[in-house]
Amino acid sequence: MRQLPETDRDAIRLAQDPHFPRWLEQITATGGCAHPIHLSGSTTTLDGETGEILHHYDTRTEPGERLLVRCRNRRATVCPACSRLHAGDTYHLVRAGLLGGKNVPATVRQRLRFFITLTAPSFGPVHRAGDRCRPRRDGGQCEHGRPLGCGTVHTPDDPAVGQPLCADCYDYPGHVLWHAHASKLWDRFVIDVRRRLASSAGLVQSRFAAHARLSFARVAEYQKRAAVHVHAVVRLDGPNGPDDDPPPWGSLDRLIDAVHASARRVVVHTPHSPAAGELALCWGVQIESRPLRADGDGSDDDAVAAYVAKYVSKGASETGAGTDQRITTWDDIGAAPVSGHVRTLMRACWRLGGLPEYEPPNLRTWAHTLGYRGHILTKSRAYSTTYAALRAERAHHVGHTDIPDTVTERNWRYVGSGHTPGAALIAAGIAEDLAESLRLGVEAKQEGEWGR
Ligand SMILES: [Zn+2]
Ligand SMILES: [Zn+2]
Ligand SMILES: [Zn+2]
Repeated sequence: MRQLPETDRDAIRLAQDPHFPRWLEQITATGGCAHPIHLSGSTTTLDGETGEILHHYDTRTEPGERLLVRCRNRRATVCPACSRLHAGDTYHLVRAGLLGGKNVPATVRQRLRFFITLTAPSFGPVHRAGDRCRPRRDGGQCEHGRPLGCGTVHTPDDPAVGQPLCADCYDYPGHVLWHAHASKLWDRFVIDVRRRLASSAGLVQSRFAAHARLSFARVAEYQKRAAVHVHAVVRLDGPNGPDDDPPPWGSLDRLIDAVHASARRVVVHTPHSPAAGELALCWGVQIESRPLRADGDGSDDDAVAAYVAKYVSKGASETGAGTDQRITTWDDIGAAPVSGHVRTLMRACWRLGGLPEYEPPNLRTWAHTLGYRGHILTKSRAYSTTYAALRAERAHHVGHTDIPDTVTERNWRYVGSGHTPGAALIAAGIAEDLAESLRLGVEAKQEGEWGR
């Protein structure tokens, strides 16, 4: 008789366990998390005055004497269930900054708000999808004897798209050093926008904060050429944040002029290095800005929030521009499942990261993300709510919150993580069912005019 595969036998063993219904409840409560954390312990809620036990929960009566909780990983390749939840939180976080809600006043929708995209500069010509790729009549060649043009019509899924025409001409050190300094470049950009706005309004630059506040939420996106672009929602408030009217000089034209001028001007200089010289790192020439309708019905804002959220579950590995696992040896780079272009970028990180002049950006630590070490989503404090507040709100809905005038004693410890093969199969099924029931609504939002 043919043996069932191990996964199926394990799933059957689980289903026959008398604790299975409760176990299934736990798995469903984690949304089908792929790598749940196993906790052992108890929570006791006592009346603050009498000491009477109002509520007691203990894992001793649970299957395997443990409680499974979400891993909360935001990466779709690591945990589809938790990454979807995280993307949902990101959507609400970005949306609250545009439309209010989640403790953000609805007045934010009266504020000047717009969406900008800042790009990385060119580090050398790469193959492009769409029209004929880099057509040239002269048949010119680079110093390495490779053609300067291509002329092919590449489909978007052609592996050549995003790869350089000549890897020897491509500026690999420039690309990874730009990534390593992209967050600094953004910080300088925001400071410069504030200064420029102040100057154009006739204010002393250092007094900007007394008149207005500039808030933002930004997200990084890896392009086909494995360089990061930055998309951001920007909002101008009064000095005390979203509750406060912005100054009368805060017009959309003035704000957009300041953004474009600052994006063209700011620069970060790298330390001098015998290997790469001293680089002046700037934004790419392609800068897009798009005002968001004030007093709109919200559809535009929803689409922007969904568009931003979409990138948060897509890290370097999902777009083919890196891996989930950190690179710890030179040989890891050779073994990584990435394109030749991405591998060369990883090697550039490793090589430059070994030089004393590039000690601070920790290029080796971030070789798996090609030197980019920013979070995928970053926001200023006053923009909207926080992930922690959204999680607390969710806990409140399922009744895990504290009751006033009570004392809660918690005693928990970590006892393990993950699933057996059969449990993983069941959890994945639950995650898919939940995703399916959400899919229609989410797709409708993402396929708006912002979708790609
Ligand atoms: Zn998870
Ligand atoms: Zn081409
Ligand atoms: Zn060349």
